[in-house]
Amino acid sequence: MKVLKFGGSSMADAAQYRKVKEIVAADPGRQVVVVSAPGKRFPDDHKITDLLYLCNAHIKYGVDCTPVFQIIQDRFLGIRDELGLEVELEAEFAQFKTDLEAKKLSEDEIVSRGEYFSAKLLAAYLGFAFLDATKWVRFKFDGNVNQQATYEALQDKIQLPGIVIPGFYGTMPDGRIKTFSRGGSDITGALAAAAFSADVYENWTDVSGILMADPRIIDDPRTIPFITYAELRQLSFFGAQVLHEHTIFPVREKGIPINIRNTNNPQHPGTMIQDDFDLRENQLFLTGITGKQDFTIVSLEKNGMSNEVGTCRKILSVFEDYNVPVEYITNGIDSVSFAIPSEAIAKNLYAVMNEIRKAVSPDALNVHERIAVIGIVGRNMASRPGTSGQIFAALGKAGINIRMITQGPDEMNIILGIDNRDFKSTISLLYASFVN
Ligand code: ASP
Repeated sequence: MKVLKFGGSSMADAAQYRKVKEIVAADPGRQVVVVSAPGKRFPDDHKITDLLYLCNAHIKYGVDCTPVFQIIQDRFLGIRDELGLEVELEAEFAQFKTDLEAKKLSEDEIVSRGEYFSAKLLAAYLGFAFLDATKWVRFKFDGNVNQQATYEALQDKIQLPGIVIPGFYGTMPDGRIKTFSRGGSDITGALAAAAFSADVYENWTDVSGILMADPRIIDDPRTIPFITYAELRQLSFFGAQVLHEHTIFPVREKGIPINIRNTNNPQHPGTMIQDDFDLRENQLFLTGITGKQDFTIVSLEKNGMSNEVGTCRKILSVFEDYNVPVEYITNGIDSVSFAIPSEAIAKNLYAVMNEIRKAVSPDALNVHERIAVIGIVGRNMASRPGTSGQIFAALGKAGINIRMITQGPDEMNIILGIDNRDFKSTISLLYASFVN
């Protein structure tokens, strides 16, 4: 049995609904479908959820929301009419508008309606039952999902084959609607997959899986066919975000693989994410190349420091006092460097330096800015000698200066610090030398 989640681009218009129907019909195991609100049809288009937030803002500041509301209603009625569905939505929209204007609805309830109407239409189109998320997704008062209660509530509601569920929201213990953070329909899908112990959680979007590198830097990068959760975490840490970050937990816990698929290219197998894979022949030892720009490195030297106890702790306490996250630490004899996202330290840089000076009296304290960090990620790197050599040879030949190197003991990644200006060329070079 498969649980499917279709993102906003897959629900954007009637043509996309038709593709969704074909995908669902192609496999009798595809019985539970979770949907987002309609997303953009073209680059300058609006996402329904954004328009709903806008409606809420109008109401909050006492401005008439009718024009925005009309766009939302027209999108849904347009899809319905183009698909020839007999679903009465006018009365619900009228009631929604009345309640909105009477300020009877919370922001979460207002923005949840995008998923609600989207699921209603798709259920009618597929001939599946509509199951509201309020009937089973249960939050606790602290805002986290009550997984046990959620799974039990859904298992009670089983009306297989064939249900469509709106993503993105559930209810608080007092019955109020609460949404996840943006992009949260991924989580609803993962919860449904976990509740039903699905064989696979198919996450349908508008790309054919997770790419080995950023397509804005590399032309037509390869898709990663298989990736572990741990590698995915490494790649998304650097910003290659494909799934909402809280998606993984419910499915990973139950050993359910996630398959990222493309609604616009359903034949493509996409990317399979699970805890472990057999080492496959011909598989690249490298899974992906990614990176982030704009780091600040604070580095310090102090004679005898390597034999002292507590120096690093004192420095880290200063960062902690200023709520500055340290992403990488590298050290040498009597020296240590801390790499920090520049935006997290910019405001307090001089205060932090001052405190470090007071705390540990270094011989030298320096700041290097505009540093980029590149992550080369791959679970198979550990078993392959010569990887670092190949990286350094490629960069050395191209005259790229490496400012920082770290490799965890799990050997799942090698992290390099370089100048921001070498960011794109480094990724291109590594991709060319390892993948092509
Ligand atoms: N529609 C919501 C959003 O735009 C949730 C989702 O699509 O996952 O954030």
